[in-house]
Amino acid sequence: MSYLSQVYDGLIARNPGEEEFHQAVKEVFESLEIALPQHPEFEQTSMLERITEPERVIMFRVPWVNDNGEVQVNKGFRVEFNSAIGPYKGGLRFHPSVKLGTLKFLGFEQILKNALTGIPMGGGKGGCDFDPKGKSDNEVMKFCQSFMTELFRHIGAYTDVPAGDIGVGGREIGFLFGQYKRLANKWEGVLTGKGLNWGGSFARTPATGYGLVYIAHEYLKDVRKTDFNGKTVAISGAGNVAIYACQKVNQLGGKVVTMSDSNGCIVDMDGIDLDLVKDIKEVRRGRIKEYIQKHPNATYSENRNDVWKVKCDVALPCATQNELDLEDAKVLAANGCLVVGEGANMPTTLEGTKYLLENGVGFLPGKAANAGGVAVSGLEMAQNSYFTQWTFEEVDGKLKGIMRNIWVNISTTAKKYGVEGNYVHGANIAGFMKVANSMMDQGVV
Ligand code: NDP
Repeated sequence: MSYLSQVYDGLIARNPGEEEFHQAVKEVFESLEIALPQHPEFEQTSMLERITEPERVIMFRVPWVNDNGEVQVNKGFRVEFNSAIGPYKGGLRFHPSVKLGTLKFLGFEQILKNALTGIPMGGGKGGCDFDPKGKSDNEVMKFCQSFMTELFRHIGAYTDVPAGDIGVGGREIGFLFGQYKRLANKWEGVLTGKGLNWGGSFARTPATGYGLVYIAHEYLKDVRKTDFNGKTVAISGAGNVAIYACQKVNQLGGKVVTMSDSNGCIVDMDGIDLDLVKDIKEVRRGRIKEYIQKHPNATYSENRNDVWKVKCDVALPCATQNELDLEDAKVLAANGCLVVGEGANMPTTLEGTKYLLENGVGFLPGKAANAGGVAVSGLEMAQNSYFTQWTFEEVDGKLKGIMRNIWVNISTTAKKYGVEGNYVHGANIAGFMKVANSMMDQGVV
């Protein structure tokens, strides 16, 4: 049995029921199969066993009182996965589906993603099974304060720096930061995605969506000798990543025709009215279905996967994991889609990814394609440590440069290992090499 299969079998036995974590590791191991024969030192030092085991996992009770005076209890987590190249860094997810296996998958992906940004950041992820939907601002604040009352002792600007993710936006980061400051008696860059008046960075809010479109643009330019101008784009989700990906596509002359949420999706062949989506989602915190009341020509479907049935040149899944499967991949390829760029983390199933790669569709994996968010979080940390604030143009310019570097890194790595055009392998191998070599330098850690 090969070293990789042996480690993978052991991982499944030691982490039962954590299918998403198994899936994320499996994808990386498939890439390492290509690279490991040239690096016997990793087997000799049990590198794969070490890198797939989190350095630390914290699980805690989050008790809080709702507006009716009833005591509620949620389950909080922080997975501090790897600190070889910098402080643990990764978002917090508040969603009823959150469980340890989800956060281990996200934390593991984050290690390699952060390595690709070129900024010294380790990998981590956290969250809670709390659902902010339908809760009052007061309830969200009470919850966030209780969550931070435990988390604060484990984090710090040079230890672990959480950020937002699904269900954690500017409002939640504000409540979490306020409570951290009271407990720690320190103003420090311990969270990213902060408000612009209190340590936040310009361009952090749109960074993931913008970065996704920047790297897709690099692909279109270098490989397809074209750009976004006049292209039809399908986007899933209607949250932070989806909204700002849509905005950047519009700025570059493309037309976005779909968006979705967890209940269903809309198709508007006239081009999505982004101001309306922002009003529904960011202001009213409503459902995407409300869109068709103002645009009767648009259609609504309760099948979220219908976003991939629309003929498009570029597909950007920006909602959640495993939302684009084999059937969707077949439709996209048959419709002549040029490239799929993953805005969300692991939105494409392993079978879907394989099909796209084998059928001529460019595929930009989330680790590389959505790294713009954490990259600007890294820039926010840098600004906090200098006690300064750069302009929007400065940060956006750096983001563009970082996404260009990631593109060059993953495409040249794929070429170097004989799998040109396979950016999944390129991203996994490039990220792994940086972290694994750092761990080698630091001894048995
Ligand atoms: P938001 O909470 O702002 O938006 C999430 C969107 O996805 C919403 O439209 C939501 O619909 C939908 N969604 C959430 N869960 C599900 C589900 N189980 N099934 C279907 N749809 C769902 O999150 P973000 O935009 O920040 O994150 C989206 C993805 O991007 C995630 O995978 C996240 O990990 C990834 N990501 C985010 C980064 C960031 O900077 N924000 C950075 C890198 C990756 P509804 O409104 O119904 O809940």
